[in-house]
Amino acid sequence: MRKLKGRSFRLFTFGLCWLVASGAFSASETGNQPVIVIVIDDLGDNRKKGIAAIDLDGAITYAFLPHTPHSKELARIAHQKGKEVILHAPMENKSGLRLGPGALEEHHDHQQLKNILNTGLDSIPYVTGMNNHMGSLLTEDREKMAEIMQVMRRRNLFFLDSVTTSNTVAWKVAREVGVPYILRDTFLDNERNEEYIHQQFKQALKVAMSRGYSVAIGHPYPETVEYLKKALPIVEELGVKLIPASELIRRRSGKPLLLVEKKLNPCDQFEGHCESELTHRH
Ligand SMILES: [Zn+2]
Repeated sequence: MRKLKGRSFRLFTFGLCWLVASGAFSASETGNQPVIVIVIDDLGDNRKKGIAAIDLDGAITYAFLPHTPHSKELARIAHQKGKEVILHAPMENKSGLRLGPGALEEHHDHQQLKNILNTGLDSIPYVTGMNNHMGSLLTEDREKMAEIMQVMRRRNLFFLDSVTTSNTVAWKVAREVGVPYILRDTFLDNERNEEYIHQQFKQALKVAMSRGYSVAIGHPYPETVEYLKKALPIVEELGVKLIPASELIRRRSGKPLLLVEKKLNPCDQFEGHCESELTHRH
């Protein structure tokens, strides 16, 4: 196993013992290699942080906010590196947090939703799908989500439900409309420190090993990028394969969705972000 130094190594070793003790290796024992999808979203505002995230090795999926200063360039770089690129579509939330340009909101009519989403998708090169940025209000609205999913179906794109409210109907509407979809299981970095990220990452691995697949979302924070730099090589050595979101959808196609009970913590309810910096967007 690749050597980690000091505290990180002890944390990871502890994590592995815990996974083995919990009997989480059942999926790999049956011969099906567990897979994990890791999405880094909120990309586009900050070039340096974006580049650092894209420089991570492995099949990470990158989600770009539309009409942000660096989204086009960063999406091209990610694509050139063989990474999957998706739109991180801002959707109206219940907390009144600012969403930035290209937001899909409750008061928008059919044509507006369609135009805004199409323009957002057109603004990011190489998109294969979309996940929601915030959206605790809009993703509970069946009618609005139906409009959105019609656009996704026409463009042959997939949807990753970030699950920013436990009452989301977004993935259910995607299923009804015929849009391929998956759900987020774990937010990696609601708190920006190594201990927290490690706990969340262990949880993501545990889900992958027990269920066969797992979907985690993180952000381009230096703490997250540094953690993943150390953790990703070990994930492969554990026998868990990092795959793009679209690859998981392809593998799951036609199979029933296996839901993991989601205990939303206060940060999850805060649109998946516990970061005041988000409120500075405009
Ligand atoms: Zn976001």
